[in-house]
Amino acid sequence: MSAPHLALTRNQNLVLEVLLREKVPLSAYMILDHLRDHGLKAPLQIYRALDKLTQMGHVHRLESVNAFVACSHAQNEDHGNHLVAFVICKQCGTVVEFSDDIIADQVKKHMQLLHFQVASTTVEIGGLCCDCARIKE
Ligand SMILES: [Zn+2]
Ligand SMILES: [Zn+2]
Repeated sequence: MSAPHLALTRNQNLVLEVLLREKVPLSAYMILDHLRDHGLKAPLQIYRALDKLTQMGHVHRLESVNAFVACSHAQNEDHGNHLVAFVICKQCGTVVEFSDDIIADQVKKHMQLLHFQVASTTVEIGGLCCDCARIKE
C-alpha cells in the first residue's frame, strides 16, 4: 500500500488509496462502498475529498462515465497546463491516461481563433480495449 500523503486529510488519503488500488473509474458511491468499514458514511464526505483531490491533480473526473480515476502520473507532478486525454474501455473500465503536446497545441490554436477562454480541457475516447475487442470477435 502506498504511503499516506502528509498534505492530505485522512478522508482524502482513504479515497485516493481506493482509486489507486482499483485502477478503474469509480463513482462517488462506489468509493463510499469501499470505505464504509473506515467509518465514512456520507456521500458528501466523499465528494469533498474528491473535489480537493481533483483540484490538486491526484484524481481526474471522467465526464463521459461520471466517475473518477487516480492520476497515473507521478504524484505531485503538475500537468495543469497540459491537455490530458483518457482512453476508456466501455466494457472492462480500463483507463489509460496520456497527454500529447501536439494535440494540446492544436486545441490552443483553435481556442485562440475563437477567442474562447478555456477553463478545463479533457479529452475522453470511449471504445473497447484490445482484450475486450478480442473477446467480442
Ligand atoms: Zn493525470
Ligand atoms: Zn476492456
